[in-house]
Amino acid sequence: MTVAGKINSLVLSVAIAATVLLSANTLHREYSLSRNLALSNTAERAQSLPQLQLGVYYRDRSLLRFALSKLVKGRPYLSFARVVDDRGRTLSELYPGTIAETAPPSLESMRGTLPVAEIGLSTNQQSHGNVSQWWMISGIDKIWDLTIPIMSAINPTAATVNEAEFSKTLINADSAGSLHVIGYVHLGLSRAQLIRQLLPSGATVLAIAALFILLCAIISRYVTRRITAPFSVVKRMADDIAAGHAVKYEGVENSGEFKEIVSVLNRMVGGLHHYKTRMDVDHQLLSMKVEERTSQLSKRNEELNQAVKEVTETKDRLRHMAYYDSLTDLPNRRLFIEKLDVLLKLAKRNEEMLSLLFLDLDNFKRINDSLGHSAGDLLLREVSARLSLCIRESDLLAHYMDSESRISISRLGGDEFTVVLNRLDRAESAGIVALRIIETLSQPMTIDGHDLVVTPSIGIAIAPDHAETVEELMKAADKAMYHCKTSGKNKYLFYEKSMEAASADRLEMENELRRAIENGELLLHYQPQVDTLTGEVSGAEALMRWNHPKLGMVSPFKFIPLAEEIGLIVELGQWGLEEACRQMVELQALGINLPQVSVNVSALQFSVSFVDKVSEVLASTGLHPRRLQLELTEGIMMDDTAATISALSTLKKMGVELSMDDFGTGYSSLSYLSRLPLDELKIDRSFVIEIDKSENDANLAIAIIAMARSMGLKLVAEGVETHEQYHFLRNHGASVIQGYLFSKPVPFEEFKNLLAPGAFKPQIEQIGNGYAV
Ligand code: C2E
Ligand code: CA
Ligand code: CA
Repeated sequence: MTVAGKINSLVLSVAIAATVLLSANTLHREYSLSRNLALSNTAERAQSLPQLQLGVYYRDRSLLRFALSKLVKGRPYLSFARVVDDRGRTLSELYPGTIAETAPPSLESMRGTLPVAEIGLSTNQQSHGNVSQWWMISGIDKIWDLTIPIMSAINPTAATVNEAEFSKTLINADSAGSLHVIGYVHLGLSRAQLIRQLLPSGATVLAIAALFILLCAIISRYVTRRITAPFSVVKRMADDIAAGHAVKYEGVENSGEFKEIVSVLNRMVGGLHHYKTRMDVDHQLLSMKVEERTSQLSKRNEELNQAVKEVTETKDRLRHMAYYDSLTDLPNRRLFIEKLDVLLKLAKRNEEMLSLLFLDLDNFKRINDSLGHSAGDLLLREVSARLSLCIRESDLLAHYMDSESRISISRLGGDEFTVVLNRLDRAESAGIVALRIIETLSQPMTIDGHDLVVTPSIGIAIAPDHAETVEELMKAADKAMYHCKTSGKNKYLFYEKSMEAASADRLEMENELRRAIENGELLLHYQPQVDTLTGEVSGAEALMRWNHPKLGMVSPFKFIPLAEEIGLIVELGQWGLEEACRQMVELQALGINLPQVSVNVSALQFSVSFVDKVSEVLASTGLHPRRLQLELTEGIMMDDTAATISALSTLKKMGVELSMDDFGTGYSSLSYLSRLPLDELKIDRSFVIEIDKSENDANLAIAIIAMARSMGLKLVAEGVETHEQYHFLRNHGASVIQGYLFSKPVPFEEFKNLLAPGAFKPQIEQIGNGYAV
């Protein structure tokens, strides 16, 4: 309900209530007045009728009837009229209305203790059978019994008076001394008739009341409209504000306050508009920024995912490198040792037999030297393929070709292979497998157009009969193999206790190596590192050789591990370092320019005291530290990293350069590597070999090149033999090349010739830039 409606109904209610009260009051007063008037008028009339005195006095009923009819005339409210004598006996009666006649109340009951000469008034209820006026709610009319004494100046008991005298007496009645009550006029006043008489005036009152209420309603409506008009204006304003429009002045032109409010609101709306516009702009800017950020983030995310993928792949690849031989893809020494350890423990627990076959090619070195390393590599691959086939096809081995079968064959390095036969039923079975291998490998193979025959020597050791640990089992198998070699080759032998004596040979070799330094059997060969951008030799790697009096030139792959094993590496390394520095100074004295020499440092040779030794050598030979580079392997970080890093930092401060050799083949984390104060990375030969054929190797090489660049390190690619490898590396930013492509490692005297300025330029030009072909 609106405020106007509420006010209207309130006003209307009040008006109706007031009107009802007023009308009721008026009607009631009207009614009382008319009743009193009727009473007094009737009484007066009754007392002024001499016929009544006469009639009663003479008991003249017709006279009384005449008097009563006179009295009743013009008084419709009189329902009946009666004349009684002083004892209450009816002398005459008249019923002018249609009211049913009922027994009139006794005079006594009507008058009670009232003095006889007084007018009496009492009431009684009368049922009106035929009174059906709607306003008679109870259906019962009320009758007032009016008893008016009829006085007589003549004592009715005193004498009998004739009518003429009586009339005279009546005329002089006022002067009469005493009056006698001789009877009563009993009149019945009907309330219903009285009210009916009032009907016209009641109707008027009601009409006025209705008019008044109508007037109130109209005025109230008008006034409330006026009062509530501002509310609708306010509502309109609210609507305007809600819709963001300016508030209109319409309808409030005459109201000062509203005008002010409107202008304040308009200012507010303006402010809000301004604010909203700013917010909209801000919002738009923000969402644009968010969008931009989101796309940047998703781009970053993609890049990150790509990087993670690459790193994972690289890691997998590195892991593979760490556990598998890159040439043959067979498990390497590391995996072989780890798995053999597990298998041995299992065999021991299950009380099973295990055998280890140690295999070495008899004539590999000769083939390698005469036909070159690449032919050697091909041969090694062929050997590994034949070995795998041989193992796979062996029915005898079917029962143990389970998930561990992959490590059945491993390549330990060079031309050394191992075969593990797990869960062996009997020792002889190993012999049968060995024989099968010899037969298979002895079949001629075509390598680089040459028909070759390679023969293996196989040493067999059985666990737990011959040994129980990896190390002992390997030693036993190695001894058996070594025995094969010294007793005619191309055969297999089981380990025997007596072979221990034979290993004296190896011992002899150890002694020989110890004496090699004193005997001057060691020498250094040099392999140039060519900067293909300038065509100049930017450095050279010093590679040690042992010229054995009986065996001839022994490969460092053979004697360096031996030296490491027997603890001779420190001495050997020291000799190499001194020799390299001395020969560098010699070159300088000859006026031959070689910017730098790289000396290999074994992990076992590297220690804190090594730093002092380097500085002593530099001092004693007089070589400038900048001309010396040390090639380190990841192995140097195996134990005390903090001490290692500090030692390396000292070397670097001295001016000596540090190069990470065989980079990518180790398994140390990149974060470790990044903490080392390095100057150079050497991409290992194993990555270079397949660089133009294997996508993996290519990606890895690219990753290493990128890494070197990002770490600000120099880069040397090692083992480059072909034009394809050369072009690939050059095209990807590796410009310093070391490998057979330019030169094998050569004796010092020969090496001098390679240092003539521009010695490699013609060759580089001939190779071209790789895009032309
Ligand atoms: P390394 O340090 O990785 O040396 C590179 C090896 O790759 C050398 O073998 C080198 O002759 C060979 N090489 C270089 N270019 C090519 C190529 O294009 N094709 C092929 N197939 N091979 C290439 P080397 O001279 O037999 O030395 C073998 C390893 O012996 C060296 O590997 C190094 O670890 C160790 N070594 C050699 N001299 C020393 C030394 O004075 N001290 C120490 N501690 N270790 C040495
Ligand atoms: Ca090296
Ligand atoms: Ca290397």
